[in-house]
Amino acid sequence: MNIQKNHSLKKHNSFAIEAKSRYFCQIESEDHIDSLLEWQQHSDLPLLLLGGGSNILFINDYQGMTALINTKGITIVGEDSDFTYIKVNAGENWHQFVRWTVENNYAGLENLSLIPGTVGAAPMQNIGAYGVELADLLHELKAIELTTGKSKTFTQKECFFSYRDSFFKSSAFGKYLIQSITIKSPKKPHWNINYEGVKNSLEGKTISAKTISNSIIALRQSKLPDPFVIGNAGSFFKNPLLNKEKWQTLKELHPNLPGYPQTDDSIKISAAWLIDKCGWKGKRQGNAGVYKKHALVLVNHGGATGKEIWGIANDIINTVNDKFGIELEAEPRIIV
Ligand SMILES: Cc1cc2nc3c(=O)[nH]c(=O)nc-3n(C[C@H](O)[C@H](O)[C@H](O)COP(=O)(O)OP(=O)(O)OC[C@H]3O[C@@H](n4cnc5c(N)ncnc54)[C@H](O)[C@@H]3O)c2cc1C
Repeated sequence: MNIQKNHSLKKHNSFAIEAKSRYFCQIESEDHIDSLLEWQQHSDLPLLLLGGGSNILFINDYQGMTALINTKGITIVGEDSDFTYIKVNAGENWHQFVRWTVENNYAGLENLSLIPGTVGAAPMQNIGAYGVELADLLHELKAIELTTGKSKTFTQKECFFSYRDSFFKSSAFGKYLIQSITIKSPKKPHWNINYEGVKNSLEGKTISAKTISNSIIALRQSKLPDPFVIGNAGSFFKNPLLNKEKWQTLKELHPNLPGYPQTDDSIKISAAWLIDKCGWKGKRQGNAGVYKKHALVLVNHGGATGKEIWGIANDIINTVNDKFGIELEAEPRIIV
């Protein structure tokens, strides 16, 4: 394992923030994982596991070891009458994996097309889009406990998935390196196409994993900025979940406020709507801004620092709180 010093992370975060890591290495094999664990035993510096850097904001340089997870491999590991089970290593690119499933006629992941990042980070915040979450398809997950080096297989239930959250992002934060996930692809697929925009774009087409994936790619490209062109981390804020009382009070004051009832009786409301109503869409502060087509996406117009992005994020949090009494929560990991 090759360790570099003072390594620039600009190419490794989708905001394209210039930040340096005191130490940096790439993890490409099981041997590299062993070397990383050994390094960790002899160091009191913190460890940052990094995938595609598309859900992270560096406000400062990182004063520890950044380990870029780059382990590859996709394997069919089994099947039964209902599902095909596909194991994929953490360093695979998520979208390329989705397209591999689509091209090979394995259904289930098509709605999660074009989400940036790696497979290993996908369970962290239970990635989701267009009515589907990773939790719906995940069969099991293999992870190494960083302090003991022990490998453990987690069932779907043991991952405690919820909206943009999991065991690994909450109570076990920083404790595990996710090595691989196993997806169950249904043999009799149930297509999720009722989401806004998806149904229309499929009119007249044969419904398949491939046509749905293609529609979703086109939809996402029309709405979201390409991080290779303009730095961003997708949705910067989580959609707030309200209890019924708070929802009803707000709805009386703002009858147009969109709300989506959840299975746990809470109501998910649109953070983009709240931000838009505070007049933030398309606004710019220095080199940081709010994307002109989507109020939930913060962008680096070029040369922004992490502090600038975090500054506008906090100004948004404060104005939304003042107007609606709701505290928005950032979705990406913030490195201070
Ligand atoms: C344009 C754009 C659109 C997006 N759209 C969506 C969307 O529709 N839905 C959605 O849910 N998200 C979306 N995102 C957010 C992002 O793509 C996902 O959160 C993605 O899973 C992040 O993957 P990554 O490899 O880039 O993670 P990173 O940013 O590298 O890391 C994220 C977190 O995971 C940890 N981590 C990374 N790899 C591992 C590992 N192997 N083991 C343990 N911990 C690890 C990191 O330490 C960090 O805490 C979008 C982002 C962008 C830029």
